[in-house]
Parts: sequence; C-alpha cells; structure tokens
Amino acid sequence: MTKELAPLYVVPTPLGNLKDISERAREILAAVPWVAAEDTRHSGPLLKHLGSQARLLAAHEHNEAEAAQQILARLEAGEAVALVSDAGTPAISDPGARIVARVRAAGGRVIPLPGPCAAATALSAAGLEEDHWLFYGFLPSKSGQRQKALEVLRDLPYALVFYEAPHRVLETVADLAAVLGAERTLVVARELTKLFESVHSLPLGEALSWLEADPNRQKGEFVLLLSGCRDDGRDLEAERVLRLLLADGLPVKQAARLAAAITGAAKNALYEQALALKG
Ligand code: SAM
Repeated sequence: MTKELAPLYVVPTPLGNLKDISERAREILAAVPWVAAEDTRHSGPLLKHLGSQARLLAAHEHNEAEAAQQILARLEAGEAVALVSDAGTPAISDPGARIVARVRAAGGRVIPLPGPCAAATALSAAGLEEDHWLFYGFLPSKSGQRQKALEVLRDLPYALVFYEAPHRVLETVADLAAVLGAERTLVVARELTKLFESVHSLPLGEALSWLEADPNRQKGEFVLLLSGCRDDGRDLEAERVLRLLLADGLPVKQAARLAAAITGAAKNALYEQALALKG
C-alpha cells in the first residue's frame, strides 16, 4: 500500500496589515514543519511574529520546478508544507501554480486557505457595478505589447483588474486611456490595508493629470480597475474592422468606406468614428 502524502497548505498572508492574517493561517503556519516561501528573508519575520518554528524552503519564480520537487519529497516523508508568497495569495500573480500542479499530479492533497488578495480587496471598494470582472494581473512592461494586450480586452463588457508597479503606473495609465478611451471609469486602489491607503475613482481621460498633480499619488502598490466596455448600440465588429484599416495606414475616408462595405454599417457614422479615432 502506498503511503499517503502529507498535505500542502496554500496560505495567504497580509498585504500590509499584520492583523489580516486569519486564525486558521496562524494555526497552520505555527503547526507545519516546513514553510515554502517566495522570499525566505521576507517571510522569516512574519513566521517569527506568529511563533512558527517551521523550517523554510525557497520557492520563487526562478526555482519553482526544483522547489516543487523538494516540497514533494517533504510531503512524501509525511511532513506537511505551507506555501506562502511575499504578500497576498500564492499563485495569484505570484509563484505557486506549478508547485500545486506537481503535488496534485503526484496524488497529494492541496488545501487552500482563503485570505488577503489585492484584487479582491480592491474590487470590494471600487464601486464598479459590472456583474462580471476579469482579473488580468500585470500587463506587459513594454508599451507596444501592452497596447496589443489591451486591444484584446477593449470590447469586453467586464470590469478589468490590473496589478501595476509604481514605476510604470503613469505609462500604463496613458496606454489604458489611448486604447480603452477617455470615458471609462478608472479606480486607482493604492497601498491597500496600509497607512497611506487610498481608493480614488475618476474618468480615465483625467487620470494621467490627476496622478501627475501629486507625486505621492504615484507611490506604493497599485491595483488599477476599469469599468467594462458599454457598447451603447455601437457596432463593435464595424469598429474593429475600422481600427484595423486605420492601423494599416488607410486614409479616414477610405477606411470608413471599406469598413461600411465589409460590415454593412453606416458609412457616415464610421467616418465620424474614424475621425475621432485619428484625433
Ligand atoms: N499574490 C498577491 C495577491 O494575492 O494580491 C499579488 C502579488 S503581485 C507580485 C504584487 C502586486 O499586487 C503589486 O504590484 C500590486 O499591484 C498588488 N498589490 C499587492 N499589495 C497591494 C496593496 N497593499 N495595495 C495595492 N496593491 C497591492
């Protein structure tokens, strides 16, 4: 008979406020013999604070495959492991998914704990009324790739949720406005659960100057949330074709005429739209 593996616990940790650790997370971190941490130096003080005697294993994005192997060896030896990231929930824009997959593939039991997650925390205070939302995480760091990624999302009727680093927040907001348009609502959720927490909503077209007006607004950790695309009777297919033709360098008039011929949409409306897009 094969021996049953000890469980792998996936344990969320606070985003900034130590009181946000759950009682269950506390208990598990204090009880397990091993904690696999994204950054052992970062998690060490938290474990000490919780009175955990667990030994630490490094499990970061550059060693996830080897870490999975080490974790599995511990589980096979009957020793439970808790997986933590620097802050929030492991495997959400953080390492963890490969480890979880490896353990499950080996027939192990993965026990997830609910807890802090920046996306869910931001959404709860954003006041966006969409019934559905799409969590994207980090957009590409280069503007061209970022704009391409945003074009894929542009016509979705869902609220969009992004993570962003402070040194990229201005350029990302500029690209969001360029691709998604000025009318969307942007919610800037910054430093959640920390001393300088702020959640501010405004039209996307005003966001860049709002951020630039005070350098403090560009500091810290960010979740950027956007209202979804409202088609308001717009012909999204005609608009998509029009954008493609314009991006290919066709003059406004010709692009409008061809888009109308291809999709059956009204030429005059497409002409006005092409002028706006060009503008
Ligand atoms: N796994 C984490 C979670 O569950 O939210 C996310 C980890 S990801 C590497 C880090 C990003 O999460 C930051 O760049 C920021 O976008 C977002 N984030 C983390 N803590 C935050 C906070 N206190 N306030 C706002 N955003 C935060």
